[in-house]
This record gives sequence, structure tokens and C-alpha cells, in this order.
Amino acid sequence: MHALRAVVGPERVLHRPEELFAYECDGLTLHRARPAAVVLPRDTDEVSRLVKACRRAGTPFVPRGAGTGLSGGALALEDGVVIECSRMNRVLEVNAAEGWAVVQPGVVNAHLAKAVAAHGLFYAPDPSSEAVCTIGGNVAENSGGPHTLKYGTTTHHVLALQLVLPDGEVLRLGSVAGWDPGYDLRGAVIGGEGTLGIVTEVTVRLVPRPEAVETLLAIFPDVVSACRAVGAVIRKGLVPAAMEIVDQRTIRAVEDSVYAAGLPTDAGAVLIAELDGAPEALARECAAVVDLCSREGADRVEVAGDEEERVRFWRARKGAFGAMGRLAPDLYVHDAVVPRPRLPEVLEQVCAIGDRYGLKLSNVFHAGDGNLHPNISFDRRDPDELARVMAAGEEILRTCVEAGGVISGEHGIGTEKRDFLGLVYDEDDLEPMRRLRAAFDPERVCNPGKVFPTTRFCVESDPKARGYDEVPL
Ligand SMILES: Cc1cc2nc3c(=O)[nH]c(=O)nc-3n(C[C@H](O)[C@H](O)[C@H](O)COP(=O)(O)OP(=O)(O)OC[C@H]3O[C@@H](n4cnc5c(N)ncnc54)[C@H](O)[C@@H]3O)c2cc1C
Repeated sequence: MHALRAVVGPERVLHRPEELFAYECDGLTLHRARPAAVVLPRDTDEVSRLVKACRRAGTPFVPRGAGTGLSGGALALEDGVVIECSRMNRVLEVNAAEGWAVVQPGVVNAHLAKAVAAHGLFYAPDPSSEAVCTIGGNVAENSGGPHTLKYGTTTHHVLALQLVLPDGEVLRLGSVAGWDPGYDLRGAVIGGEGTLGIVTEVTVRLVPRPEAVETLLAIFPDVVSACRAVGAVIRKGLVPAAMEIVDQRTIRAVEDSVYAAGLPTDAGAVLIAELDGAPEALARECAAVVDLCSREGADRVEVAGDEEERVRFWRARKGAFGAMGRLAPDLYVHDAVVPRPRLPEVLEQVCAIGDRYGLKLSNVFHAGDGNLHPNISFDRRDPDELARVMAAGEEILRTCVEAGGVISGEHGIGTEKRDFLGLVYDEDDLEPMRRLRAAFDPERVCNPGKVFPTTRFCVESDPKARGYDEVPL
């Protein structure tokens, strides 16, 4: 504690139980671990000195942004210290002419969007948690969002990084040119879930705001026909900026909440589709999407007449998770990806799993990407219900993998899915990943206990000889 205070002063070291309570979990409230302390650095130099102090003491540390992660990534396991970057929240430079900005990791995603709007630019990755989550967290999780379909995920929008390595050394990766010869280590850090170091500066790519935007709300009798419409739009060769589906149970929760958007509560599902680009092409594409939705069984399709209506359509989607609080005290947000053509059948199976386990399961998801978010509302104080939630979750993951999918689209592995990695990787796949992690962090002090399975399914040779130790990673 003394060594931490020597770096940032006593007021930026939290250690009382009531101060640490908020750091016991992230958005996945099922996994909990109380940190030994939380420190709030203001710049790269402080981060580097804090990391060195932890390492000297043999204390593990974990970087944290806003704690909205949904896979337990920001938990301090093994009595570790949380290094929270929320005070590093300045936009350092905007270069509108070249289309990039340099930001500290604690900048909130939506604040960056606001800061560059006056230049006619935007930062494309927009997780639904954009009002709170930080760019540092987005980088660590390679976050996506509704507009990932057209614009890509965080990795497509980060040109360069500054990283404090697990030994305290400061490293720069990538360049504003967007191209660096040699191995793409920038790419390894993005999606590295805070296990390779602490990101202390990010150079992000900014995109010109589209000339025009059209937002549609298609109302379907059931979620499966909404999924079919998504497939039909893509098959037609259209690439909307976003295609998001909200199912009936979610619509009802939203309409009962402060996020009410005037959606029909008897609709089986709604599809929110957004198209952007040049006005001439947009009118044609918009008509095509309306037509395809109607052919796939939409009861009606509304096109937002103005910005106010567009915001209303989106309120239903962006407020969905908050509205779930009305259904039960706890929410388990699942995250898996399936090949888009398999969406209708997988969704039917997912709903059947929820019914079979007698659970309140609802769906709100990035349909254009095939990225499912089955949400289970439950009460963790009921052990029987909790056991059913866990069993159903595992079955959902297995169903998605059997359909050719993967176990996470954007929320990461963290502590939540580390023991399910075996569904998609065998030991030969994990070996090079462990070696990469060990190259950055041979002493395993930076965010230990995340991503890798806690038990090895197959050890073929002496792990120490391979440069990492046998302690669960
Ligand atoms: C309502 C809701 C909606 C969401 N919607 C989406 C969505 O649409 N798309 C999506 O992708 N995710 C979504 N998420 C998940 C979450 O918001 C994202 O993963 C987000 O990027 C986490 O940011 P954070 O600042 O909260 O990070 P945290 O939760 O604090 O941390 C997440 C991970 O990042 C690491 N980390 C944090 N800062 C740094 C740093 N400076 N350097 C290195 N590692 C760091 C942590 O160690 C941890 O492993 C949603 C979550 C909620 C609660």
C-alpha cells in the first residue's frame, strides 16, 4: 500500500471495504473477487511506476476501465490490485485533416464521438454501453457494436497504441500511417483482454460522417422471420450500417421502462436497420430493404421521418439491457456468433433451451453479424434457478459451436468462458497463444486467471521448457 501511495498519493489509493465493493465484479455479476486495493493513475508515467511497484512486491494487477465488461475480465484475482484508468480521460489531439485522434484510455466511447462531431467525423465502434464504457476497455475486448456490420470492430479503428508492459517498460505499437512492417503486435494487444499490458494511449481512426442516414423499424410476427429478413438483405448484396433484432420479451420490458419507444408490444420481434451513404443510392437501398422485409413476413415497416424518430427507434435497442432490470434482479448476457444463414434455426434452438430449463430468456442482438445475445433474467439467490441458468448457458454455447459458430463475438473470454475454450481450440491451438502471453508477461502478473482454461486438457511436454509455467493462466 505504501509503495502505491508513493506513486499517486493517498487520495488516489482506495482500500476500505466500502470503497472496494464496487470493484468486486464487472457487468457479469456472477463472478466476484475483492481487490486488495484500487489505484487511480493520471498518466503513463504513474501507470509504469505502479506496475513496477506491484511487480517488485509480486502482487498481480489488472487494468480496468468503466467495469462494464461482461466476462469478468476486470476482476482482480489472487488478491491483486486494480489499476483503474478512468482518470486518464483526455482527448489529447484531433487531426481532422488526416482523420485520427489520440486519446487516453479512460475516455468514454460516447465522449469521443461528441469531441469529434464538430469536425464532421465519427468514431465508428459503438458498443451499446457507449455512454459509459472506455476506449481502453474497448481496445482490450476488441469491442463491436450495432455499426460493426459495415464499419468493423475496434481493431479496424485503432492505428497505434502506447502500452505499459508488465515489467513497467513503455512501448509504442502501430503508427498513424496504419501500417507497420513486421508482426502485428498492435493486433495482438487489441482483444488481449488486458493480459499483455496496460494501454495508456490510443490513436484511433476517425471516419467522415455519412452524407445521409435512413433508419427503418420492421415489425415481425416472430423472431425467426426477422432473422430471415436479415439474410435476405445481405444476400441481395446490401450492406446496411446496422441490423439489430429485439424480440418480444425485450420489447415488453423496454415498453414498461423509462426507455419506452412506442413499439407494439404484441410484435414477435422488431428489426432496426440503418443505411448510410450518398442520398441517391440510399433511397434505392431503403426501398429494397422495405420490400425484402415485407416479403419475409413483416407486418409493417416504418422509416424514421426525422432525427427524433431515429433516436426513438434506437432507444428501444440501446435501452434494452437497462430495461431488463424490470424482469429479475440478475441478468446473464450471453454472447456467441453463428454463421448468419444459421441464425433462424439456432435462435429457435436457443429459445427451446430457455423453455426447457423454465427460464426467462430474451434476445436482443447484432443480427447482421450473426452475433447472438441470449439474455437470461434470474435471481441468483435461488440455487435451483442458478443451476438451470448455468446448464442452459453451456447448452447454448454448445449449440452455437455445433452450428459452426464461436463462443464469443465481442464480450471476450475473461473468467466467464475460460473453461469453454476447449469447445473451439485444442491444446495445439492454445500453445502459441500461451507462448505469446509469456513473451509479454513471463512472471504472469498482468491480469492472471483470465482467458486460458484453468485446467490443461493435454500437456505434451515440460511447460517450463516452453517458456511458461504450469500454474493455471
Ligand atoms: C449494457 C451493456 C451493453 C454492452 N454492449 C456491448 C456491445 O454492443 N458491444 C460490445 O463489444 N460490448 C458491449 N458490452 C460489453 C462492454 O461494455 C465492453 O466490453 C467494453 O469495451 C468494456 O469497457 P470498460 O471500459 O467497461 O472495460 P472494463 O469492463 O473495465 O474492462 C474490460 C477488459 O478490458 C481490460 N482493460 C480495461 N482498460 C484497459 C487498459 N487501459 N489497458 C488494457 N486493458 C484494459 C480489463 O482488464 C478487462 O479485461 C456491453 C456491456 C453492457 C453492460
